[in-house]
Amino acid sequence: MGGEALLELDRVTVFYGRVRALQEVSLQVWPGEVVALLGSNGAGKSTALRLVSGLVAPAAGRVRFRERDLVGLGPASIVRLGIAHCPEGRKVFPEMTVRENLEMGAYTRRGSLEADLERVWALFPVLRQRQHQLAGSLSGGEQQMLAIGRALMARPALLLLDEPSMGLAPAVVQEVARAIRSLNASGTTVLLVEQNVHVALRIAHRGYVLENGRVVVSGTAEELSRDDRVRRAYLGA
Ligand code: ATP
Repeated sequence: MGGEALLELDRVTVFYGRVRALQEVSLQVWPGEVVALLGSNGAGKSTALRLVSGLVAPAAGRVRFRERDLVGLGPASIVRLGIAHCPEGRKVFPEMTVRENLEMGAYTRRGSLEADLERVWALFPVLRQRQHQLAGSLSGGEQQMLAIGRALMARPALLLLDEPSMGLAPAVVQEVARAIRSLNASGTTVLLVEQNVHVALRIAHRGYVLENGRVVVSGTAEELSRDDRVRRAYLGA
């Protein structure tokens, strides 16, 4: 691909104490893409997202967003540059209303939030209906929608999504998948961590498979769904 990558990891290594979570990982995300990080438990997928959002620092390698070096910037600065992180386990504020949760997502900027709220309501109409309800009273699927909506309130160019399908019923997974495609179609680039490889390959344009902190296979969604290793390990072939 030509042009400049929106996000680039260049031979990044990350340790937690003595545990090496990522080892010389290189990857690119181009503007407009949905890119999936695949792999089993502990492969390093969440660490890659935490690295991009400034929650962990690399021992080696570079992380660039729009050709700007992110290493050493704090999470708040990284949000302001246009990267929002929707963490695993949909950590919404249960004692706050849906609307208050969304407003929290926009804490990095001033001004009217109405246009942004409208965008979230359009993506997830159920949240508009429930806007005055406490977030803790929502179903798991609704909380996932809220967590994604809250991340979108920061108007990210790049959305980091960690396991959006986790623990959701199949129909709800489809709904969340549709919303991810829709927000991508309206201009948000997505880096998606997903253990459900079937779901991920339907949403993503390309993917990288991590094993023990290393990239072992990468390619387009179509290439990955035909790849023998991917089929054996993740698609039950
Ligand atoms: P999962 O889907 O289970 O979260 P993952 O692919 O996202 O898996 P990571 O969470 O990135 O994997 O973990 C990568 C490795 O780093 C694992 O060996 C994990 O045990 C280890 N690890 C993750 N977080 C920490 C931490 N805070 N302290 C120590 N080790 C950690």
